[in-house]
Amino acid sequence: MTLDETIDLLSQIALIDDRVVKVDTAEQRAQVTVWAAVLRDVPLQFAGEAVGRHYAESAWPIMPKDIAGRWRDQVRDRLGRSTGTFEPADHPNVDPDDRYGNAYVAALRAQRGAIAGGTTEPVGLRELMPAVGSRLGGGRAVDLVPANSDFRTTKTAMYPPRTQPAGPPERSVHCPACGASPGKPCRTTNRGRQMNGIHPSRRDAYEAAQATDSKGDHS
Ligand SMILES: [Zn+2]
Repeated sequence: MTLDETIDLLSQIALIDDRVVKVDTAEQRAQVTVWAAVLRDVPLQFAGEAVGRHYAESAWPIMPKDIAGRWRDQVRDRLGRSTGTFEPADHPNVDPDDRYGNAYVAALRAQRGAIAGGTTEPVGLRELMPAVGSRLGGGRAVDLVPANSDFRTTKTAMYPPRTQPAGPPERSVHCPACGASPGKPCRTTNRGRQMNGIHPSRRDAYEAAQATDSKGDHS
C-alpha cells in the first residue's frame, strides 16, 4: 500500500470510527507515516476488507497491527497450501539448468510473492492428483478393489442374509388393492393383517406384467 492509499484507507476508517484518525495535523501526518510503514506489503483492497472484519468482531478502534496480523495469517495460509512446485519451462527467460541463476531465482521469488499476495492461486496436492473417474470428483485418486471370495464368506458369516419364505410369485408386483410394495405380502384392507394369499387384482397385475414381459422378449 502506498502513502496515498494509506491516506485513502484512513479517511474511509474515519467515516466509520471517529476514534481512529488523529485530529491534529502534525499527529495525523505521523499517523499516516506509521500506518504506511506497517502496511507497506498489504494491498489496499485487503486492508479495506480487514477493517470490515475487525469491526464485525471487535468494539475496539482498529490499529495497523490488526490489519498486518490478518495479512500475515493469509500469507501463511496461502503459502502453506501451496506445494511449491515451480516449472522453469513456464518462464521463457529462465534457464532450467541454471538453478542459482538470477533469472531462475527471480522467477521463483515472483511466483511465491504472487501466491502470498493473492494474485496467483496456490495449487494444492489435491489438484495435482490425477482424477480417477469423474464420479469420484475432486481429483481424488481411489483404487476400488473388487470383493474376493474370502471377503464374501466372512461377510455372509457376520451378516447372514435374511431368509424369507418365498411366497406366491404374484408378490413380485405392486398390489393395486392394498398397496403392498413388490416383494411384500398383501395386507387385509380393513385390519391391515398380513395375508398368506394375495388380492385378486394383484394376480391380474402380475399376469399382465408377465404378458408384457414375454411380449417384449419375442419382439
Ligand atoms: Zn394386496
